[in-house]
Amino acid sequence: MSTDGPLAVAVIGAGFAGIGAAIRLRQAGVEDVTVFERDTRIGGTWRDNTYPGAACDIPSQLYSYSFARNPEWSQTYSGSAEILDYIDKVAADHGVIDRIEFGRTVTGLTYDVPTGEWTLTFAEQEPVRARSVIVASGPLSTPALPDIPGVADFAGTAIHSAAWDHDYDFTGKKVAVIGTGASAVQIVPELVKRAASVKVFQRTPGWVLPRVNLETGEFAKGVYRRVPGAQRLARALWYGGHETMALGVVWDTPLTRVVEAIARLHLRLQVRDPWLRRQLTPDFSAGCKRLLMTSDYYPALQAKNAKLVTWPIARIAPKGVRTVEGIEHQVDCIVYATGFAVAKQGTPYPVTGVDGRVLADEWSGGAQAYRSVAVSGYPNLYFTFGPNSGPGHNSALVYLEAQIEFITEAIGMVERGGWKALDVRREAQEAFNADIQKRLRRTTWNSGCQSWYLTSDGYNATMFPGFATQFVNQMRRVDLRDFRILVDEPALSAATV
Ligand code: NAP
Repeated sequence: MSTDGPLAVAVIGAGFAGIGAAIRLRQAGVEDVTVFERDTRIGGTWRDNTYPGAACDIPSQLYSYSFARNPEWSQTYSGSAEILDYIDKVAADHGVIDRIEFGRTVTGLTYDVPTGEWTLTFAEQEPVRARSVIVASGPLSTPALPDIPGVADFAGTAIHSAAWDHDYDFTGKKVAVIGTGASAVQIVPELVKRAASVKVFQRTPGWVLPRVNLETGEFAKGVYRRVPGAQRLARALWYGGHETMALGVVWDTPLTRVVEAIARLHLRLQVRDPWLRRQLTPDFSAGCKRLLMTSDYYPALQAKNAKLVTWPIARIAPKGVRTVEGIEHQVDCIVYATGFAVAKQGTPYPVTGVDGRVLADEWSGGAQAYRSVAVSGYPNLYFTFGPNSGPGHNSALVYLEAQIEFITEAIGMVERGGWKALDVRREAQEAFNADIQKRLRRTTWNSGCQSWYLTSDGYNATMFPGFATQFVNQMRRVDLRDFRILVDEPALSAATV
């Protein structure tokens, strides 16, 4: 073991979630926190997604911590580099950098009932023990190559959107982009500026809404810096606007038709060619897959050097992409904007709880948790962006902060109370999950399209079926009636309180 005694809290991952958790725990008086990060720098998804055009499609005023507002955002929707600078600054300002150990790839978590401690094992270092563990490794951290035959056969350069090769010079190159999701629609407009040709392979068109990105002038920044409450007001307005969107995005309502009408109008205004418009028109309810926010994608697709290919891909060949009608599109480079391996059914590393139970086995039919953060039989283990915490219409950071507050309160209770652990009651978890799944049945995500939100048999372990405000309310306080408090005294051990 690299530490003498157990840590109070081990946090896995130094992205927005891990950094935020470390900050809030320290502010709550829990100082003995170590963050284990597999990479050599902090930032999570914003460290990894550095493809050209990478930006957040949620306004920065809302895509930031409420406890670390930033009056300096340069534009409405900031790019990945600026967001990464923000995370760096927040971590430095709150004194958590020295709490992070880099180059620490967790390979497993095991709970020991007698001591009430978790053991974290690592790829290369000695194990570490901790009383509480926060799994903050993020659902979108492992890039996924598509299950297309021949992916390994390609002799040219292959680049995934989340592992960009900045040394590769696209100037004059023939490029294929596979995928047309949130990443692709940001990449394509940048590639067409440099490459000789860009062929975009689309399997399913998405609903695209315009995104008006304005620079924040010095006057506005001055107001944010100096006028108390100005930034809080801006955030509240963005928040309210996004909450309203839920009515058309989370559920299939008349407002969904309005969202679709706006997207159709946007398509009509930006694309003259009726056949291309038809190819780009989705056949599912808006919101079922993630809405795409961009005003640059459709114009880029119509650039002279760009082409949309809608024939299904048959295989990847050594020289390019073969589509089912028999054409081989020969290219120098394939950009895979094909998303991430999302753990909807398993865990990123083995997690062994009470009595040797294995979380991946319990989640084999689809992940579930109590209020997205805790699982019965895994005491003092918490997840950020755990099951059913995904937003479809509002800032992920609103959801994240609510989870961090809940986890901080629970860990604070254990530390202050001198308890061994909190273990959520199975019946509380099951009741919660039954309600979530019932509510999900009425949402657009479960209305028939295929997306990364669902398992192959249609189980939704990803999204929260409601307003962000409802999610925040559900996380507002730790209800001890839903937990077993495990204490050390022999007379009370494993007592049900
Ligand atoms: P994604 O949304 O999962 O999109 C993957 C794309 O690859 C889809 O168009 C998919 O087509 C296509 N694809 C996958 N396998 C394929 C195959 N075998 N053959 C052909 N096409 C295939 O991935 P992403 O665009 O990287 O986005 C993932 C998530 O990251 C988003 O949902 C969002 O949460 C987050 N993100 C956020 C931002 C932001 O601005 N906040 C930006 C980028 C990403 P189908 O649609 O047919 O499956």
